[in-house]
Amino acid sequence: MEREFISIRWVVVGILTGIVGGLWLNAVGGADTRLFEVVALGGDLFIRLLRMVVVPLVVASLISAAAGLDTRYLGRLGAITLVYYFTTTIMAAALGLVIVNLVDPGVGAVLQGAQLPKEIQERQPPTFADLLRNLIPANPIDALARTDMLQIISFSLIVGVAINLMGDRAQAIKQFVHEVLELSMVIVRWVLYLLPVGVALLLMRAIGQAGVEVFAPLAKYMGAVLGGLAVHGLLVLPLLVWLLGGVPPWRFFKGISQAMITALSTSSSAATLPVTMRTVERELNVPGYISRFCIPIGATVNMDGTALYEAVAALFIAQAYGIQLEFTQQIVVLFTATLAAIGAAGIPSAGLFTMVIVLQSVGLPLEGIGLILAVDRILDMFRTMVNVEGDAGGAVILTNIVGRK
Ligand code: ASP
Repeated sequence: MEREFISIRWVVVGILTGIVGGLWLNAVGGADTRLFEVVALGGDLFIRLLRMVVVPLVVASLISAAAGLDTRYLGRLGAITLVYYFTTTIMAAALGLVIVNLVDPGVGAVLQGAQLPKEIQERQPPTFADLLRNLIPANPIDALARTDMLQIISFSLIVGVAINLMGDRAQAIKQFVHEVLELSMVIVRWVLYLLPVGVALLLMRAIGQAGVEVFAPLAKYMGAVLGGLAVHGLLVLPLLVWLLGGVPPWRFFKGISQAMITALSTSSSAATLPVTMRTVERELNVPGYISRFCIPIGATVNMDGTALYEAVAALFIAQAYGIQLEFTQQIVVLFTATLAAIGAAGIPSAGLFTMVIVLQSVGLPLEGIGLILAVDRILDMFRTMVNVEGDAGGAVILTNIVGRK
């Protein structure tokens, strides 16, 4: 019998150490110190260990899900998953709009814009044709090497269905994929033993380099985003999981705590994916054939926290520039924020880059992104947490709806 997860107590010790250590590091010089370099290096190593297993895990998960399930059942699973992801994401964006209209965080704000990264200045929003074209990899090896998750997902699903239709002739490859999946999970288990240390280092790095002085002028904006995330993450999602998934909130949160903490400290749904998968299977009894299918897809396209943040940020920027957005323009923001969240990769700050789509859709100045850049790192931690919570919630709900086989 394999040993159980690292106890949550140690993870809490890691969080506390990270917070106290980060505040101390910040006070003694932050990013300019030698210690900061060591802490940052340690944090990077932890994230890299997680990311190392993501590609094999996603490929093996999706191939084995598609190869092992009745194709009609797979279609039903896919349809329900996508409906859940889209509905909850658009709900989050709507919630963001309601909150930003109530709080008006940008009205009268006196802000200094930061210099925009070159990637944002030069970014062109993709056309619909581009999005479609990018779904299919012309060269799967290239897609794997670039970790292009959408392309990896479609490739793996196609291969999985082909294996499925080959039946007994594909026994060896099925077995191989299954073993790759198990092997990846063994590595995930090892990495999880490092979770308390990883969390401590990553939090220490984030807090250690945060310039708290930049928070003051953006406090209301941060409050709007964090408040919205709290409502969505602590009320809306747990309620849905309770009503549609049959799992009460306390059990749900206890079950996904490791994944949430990993999301908070890594700011990456993709890096958290292996932990999410393991926790929903082990702690929330989601059967493997469901988690293998919906968690990789969720970590790539389902981003409730990001959608909410994009909606709040876009309106905040409009308010700060004194631009009034009409109701119809806000509806455009609702949809583009949802699309921007779906299109954002599960990596740190991805949402900041896809914000270009939202701003351009209603003619807001891209320089507006410079206004919110300073606090993005911190908001990213919390929106990633909600993104991952949405993925786990989807797995629980799906289990309840389609039933256990
Ligand atoms: N960091 C987020 C994630 O990985 C994406 C974002 O920037 O909003 O889920």
